[in-house]
Amino acid sequence: MTEIIDGDAVAASLREELAESIEELADAGVQPGLATVLMSDDPASETYVSMKREDCREVGIEDFHRDVDSGADTEELMAVVADLNERADVHGVLVQTPLPDQVDSERALRSVTPLKDVDGFHPENVGRLVRGDPRYRPCTPHGVQKLLDAAGVETEGADAVVVGRSNLVGKPLANLLLRKAPDGNATVTVCHSRTDDLAEKTRGADIVVAAAGVPELIDGSMLAEGATVIDVGYNHVDGEAVGDVAFESARETAGAITPVPGGVGPMTRAMLLYNTVKAASIQSGTDVSLP
Ligand code: NAD
Repeated sequence: MTEIIDGDAVAASLREELAESIEELADAGVQPGLATVLMSDDPASETYVSMKREDCREVGIEDFHRDVDSGADTEELMAVVADLNERADVHGVLVQTPLPDQVDSERALRSVTPLKDVDGFHPENVGRLVRGDPRYRPCTPHGVQKLLDAAGVETEGADAVVVGRSNLVGKPLANLLLRKAPDGNATVTVCHSRTDDLAEKTRGADIVVAAAGVPELIDGSMLAEGATVIDVGYNHVDGEAVGDVAFESARETAGAITPVPGGVGPMTRAMLLYNTVKAASIQSGTDVSLP
């Protein structure tokens, strides 16, 4: 029987455990705080930010929010970030992307102080991750690791294929799976749009993580019998959410598989809360236990 890995359930139990960490912080007189910065009129970005804010309020993270006019320049955005960087009650600063064209996104994102960079995008945090000593793991790759763990999938010694090499998902995940650690120690192959014979690579894998943004790129014929398949993809096709994996075909071959929706998505949301709690713990010098 193919196991369907239930991301909603794993995320819910992680939130419960995080609530305990938040209580520990409260005992020490600390309430974690996350500031979201929205500089966009795009409805999708607005929805993402409001979901993040709601998630915070639900678990007892203080919700700070700043709207920046979408016509403003890089300096104006950076002034807002600088103010949040200074505040002791704000432990995490998240600038929602994409930013408007007139903004120097790289510069703006780098202005978030690394200790508050709960997205894990700052070069200092990326560097630490690559060196095997991550501070804040980017939310989606971290969520994938937690899903593998919850499903009892050993990464140590496994052949893992990551399809996608973005800075957001593919590259950090490949580094985390490669890391000398119990939730790493895999032999990792990273595939991308120029990979020759993707199917040959995925067929040799114990673990396949699809993060290409191509609807149903991976089907059952491209998998080894019993492989674990994590579908990061989230694409809109005819008004429906469709993953990068052809679910019905892949489940015939896979040993375990995540659905879309209800797989990686809820984990990404939960891991932002995790990073915010971790940030509060680090900045307050309160060494709370984290799930
Ligand atoms: P991206 O467009 O930045 O990167 C896609 C990567 O896939 C690129 O490295 C590209 O080389 C590779 N690729 C494209 N076509 C390919 C092909 N035919 N064969 C092999 N590789 C191919 O995308 P991203 O930001 O990494 O996101 C990937 C997908 O994951 C998207 O569908 C996105 O919506 C989804 N996503 C979901 C979550 C979540 O929480 N569920 C979070 C982040 C991203």
